[in-house]
Amino acid sequence: MTLAALALAPGLALGSFLNVVAARVPLRRSIVSPPSACMSCGHELSWYENVPLLSYAFLRGRCRSCDERIPLRYPAVELTAALLVGGSVWKFGLHAESLVASFFCLALVAVSATDLEHRIIPNRIVLPAAAVVLAAQTAVKPSPEWAIAAFGASGLLFLAALVYPAGMGMGDVKLALLLGAMLGRTVPVALLLGMLAALVPAFVLLARHGSAARKMGIPLGPFLALGAVVALFAGHPLLHLYLHH
Ligand SMILES: [Zn+2]
Repeated sequence: MTLAALALAPGLALGSFLNVVAARVPLRRSIVSPPSACMSCGHELSWYENVPLLSYAFLRGRCRSCDERIPLRYPAVELTAALLVGGSVWKFGLHAESLVASFFCLALVAVSATDLEHRIIPNRIVLPAAAVVLAAQTAVKPSPEWAIAAFGASGLLFLAALVYPAGMGMGDVKLALLLGAMLGRTVPVALLLGMLAALVPAFVLLARHGSAARKMGIPLGPFLALGAVVALFAGHPLLHLYLHH
């Protein structure tokens, strides 16, 4: 528990880095330079404007130079990243697995943030992350399970994308590769929960906008990521529950 609490601080810092990744990778810009600046006026952030969570609260969510609102996505990504890193350490303890789980969660946060904002799941995030997780899982817990689950989950979503291209993109197919590599046999839990969760906003849109809602796409990535987090922390009991009913 103490360890998990200690992991929150680096989790916040990593979340802050993910904001840079999510903002710049889809635009194919460098993630190391230039230093962070306001997206609307270009005002370069000093250190006290760049402290995760605290700066957002201190600046009351506005740029100090141009008064433009800072998107809520920034503190949300930082907080989510910190909680997931803390949760991974709490669940897996001082073990290589908590390192892999943290990395996996951070990749999911980056993918969700870019999918929500730019409606894409960048290859440059999801493919290297899938490769790293597959290699790490196979090294930590040697088994063909991780590779089978990665390619199985990805193949399944690929077929779904062929049948129903409007509902699923190739980004989701590549995301499934990452999910399977980490979750192994519990990856169906993630896929099922993710798709069920995505139905909620779909129904809300349908109720609000009627048939026009069919043209408003809902990015599936964040929902698959949500399903994956549930599967990571509770996949085995959930799978057990399902198989015994
Ligand atoms: Zn500004």
